[in-house]
Amino acid sequence: MPHILLTNDDGHQAPALAILARALQPVGNVTVFAPDHNWSAAGHTKTMHKPLRVARGTLAGDIPLFITTGTPSDCVGLALLGLVREPPVDLVVSGINTGANLGHDVTYSGTVAAAMEAAVIGRPAIAASMEFDETGRRVGDLEHAAEFVARLAAQTLERGLPRYGLLNVNFPALPAEQIAGVRVTRLGIRHYHDVIVERADPRGRPYYWIGGEPPTGEPEEGTDVGALACGNISITPLNLDMTDRGQLARIAEWPLQ
Ligand code: MN
Repeated sequence: MPHILLTNDDGHQAPALAILARALQPVGNVTVFAPDHNWSAAGHTKTMHKPLRVARGTLAGDIPLFITTGTPSDCVGLALLGLVREPPVDLVVSGINTGANLGHDVTYSGTVAAAMEAAVIGRPAIAASMEFDETGRRVGDLEHAAEFVARLAAQTLERGLPRYGLLNVNFPALPAEQIAGVRVTRLGIRHYHDVIVERADPRGRPYYWIGGEPPTGEPEEGTDVGALACGNISITPLNLDMTDRGQLARIAEWPLQ
């Protein structure tokens, strides 16, 4: 049976982690390696300036669980570089994140970064996320989404992914029976509405928050943003090669010598 490493960026206590772990069990032997707290928007962070602690336990009764002080991508690094050596990991799954990871979100997302870390090390990976509704609630069906991720995991194990490839799957904020279908998409465009909020500490020195209203996006057909806007599940194949090949010749012509 294949060996699936499961992680997330919402932390080991996130309900979606146990639901997905259980859904993946028919597809492979599951080992969970998750952060000890919520790291959402951690991006692809590698902890280099402090030691990482790892505790062991079980999730959902009997699923092996490693909990670390590190980031989501540290989870994958720690596991694949040695702590989860036997049997070798065949597939890494990250999620299901609370909140969609669409378009430019993939550059912030700890969920996607964990899958990217797997791709760096040379393992196929899937990142899965579910969008909120306008009121900030998750109205989607986690069990249904987890079963979909399990089917996607089985297909990925059977068919493989290109070198340095990963899949980014997003579920709309809809009950299972209202989901329109499945779309294979490209990354769309996000619009962030962040502002700087300045406050003063007790000594009168300023400090800052960056935040604001949730991001919106351009619901263009063929994109992940567009797919979710029409009630579809979106699967975006990603690759660590972010080269913009169309620019190679143009930049080479700049007079830089
Ligand atoms: Mn998260």
